[in-house]
Amino acid sequence: MTVIQEKQKYAGTSTAMQEERLRELVQYVAANSPFYRELFAKHNIDAAGINTLDDLYKVPTTEKDDIQKRNNDFLCVPPGKVVEYTSTSGTLGGPVTIALTENDLVRLAHNEYNSFLCADGSEDDIYQLMLTLDRQFMAGIAYYSGIRKIGAGIIRLGPGVPALQWETIKRLKPTAIVAVPSFILKLINFAKENNIDINASSVKKAICIGENIRNTDFSLNMLGKKITEAWDIHLYSTYASTEMQTAFTECSEGAGGHCQPDLVIVEVLDENDKQVEPGTPGEVTITTLGVEGMPLLRYKTGDICMYFDEPCACGRTTLRLSPLMGRKKQMIKFKGTTLYPPALFDLLAEREEIMDFVVEVYSNDIGLDQVSLYLVPADNSEECDHRIRAYLQARLRVSPHIKYVTPEQIHKMQFNEASRKAIKFIDRR
Ligand SMILES: [Zn+2]
Repeated sequence: MTVIQEKQKYAGTSTAMQEERLRELVQYVAANSPFYRELFAKHNIDAAGINTLDDLYKVPTTEKDDIQKRNNDFLCVPPGKVVEYTSTSGTLGGPVTIALTENDLVRLAHNEYNSFLCADGSEDDIYQLMLTLDRQFMAGIAYYSGIRKIGAGIIRLGPGVPALQWETIKRLKPTAIVAVPSFILKLINFAKENNIDINASSVKKAICIGENIRNTDFSLNMLGKKITEAWDIHLYSTYASTEMQTAFTECSEGAGGHCQPDLVIVEVLDENDKQVEPGTPGEVTITTLGVEGMPLLRYKTGDICMYFDEPCACGRTTLRLSPLMGRKKQMIKFKGTTLYPPALFDLLAEREEIMDFVVEVYSNDIGLDQVSLYLVPADNSEECDHRIRAYLQARLRVSPHIKYVTPEQIHKMQFNEASRKAIKFIDRR
């Protein structure tokens, strides 16, 4: 299928088609999922009464906590039909198992096929996968099978080892890489240190996973800027989670991840489970379509995004999601404003007066969130201090508590216990 055909197909995904799939889903979970059967009984929900997208509001939302506590009760097929057990990374709370059937793997491949087409992929591309394909990581097999379906070439190199990545780029000449953005920065630094001319390489684009490369207004954030200033490649962001088994991937316009309406119904909800207006932060809540093993109805992902519903300049008319603004659990309500750690990180990373930082949040005596910033200043002058305070006041409109520390002290805070990644956020609430 050409990209034009794919665009038309997206435009043609009607509400009627989504509703037909929704009806199938509701009947299916009512018959096969112990969790949803019980939920429907408890709330007097008649599966035959859920027919339209508006009817969906009759169904209470489901949360990660529900899956964590009753993981097996979400399984709709006998164990014999499961062919793949994947798992969430468990960054917040314990891991969750998502079991997939053969049909689910076919659906997953279709999902990533659409995603890579959306990100301008074709059979002429060669993708170097700089990520794990094991450890129960769903995205790894999703990318692999989606790229196979496109007919492009695949180099499964795995994460890390910049020297090997560059050696392979030189030898096999991939046109694209799939990687975590901060690792792309490592690749660039390695190239600089080893006199590799990165802009002479075969790589022309990168599918960025796991971290934001854009601010919520779609401009490149610090990480995105650092990559593209050094390396002339096009960045495509993608957002997904194991539970939803569906990706939201950017097109060349870089104006949010496109929804795949044939695979998922997405809602962006406020605190009272009501849909927010476009351009307003809310919790991404999904209903999977066509999933056989562990389908989900109105599952609240814990991820905060905005959505946009006007047509995209690429021609697609599907809903788009903003970059991930933060996790709901990490939301900070500070002196009348709502803040998410990633926005704060971007803000702090942008200033050359701030060499490094740790954000600490705690509750004060009356239960309100307080923010302390531990900063390593570029120098200890009064002028530097003034510039930092004026900048934070202007950007945050509130003044957090600032404590200046040395590089040694910040290193101790960032690498306590057995953490491999630098800790930038300490939540003491
Ligand atoms: Zn687009």
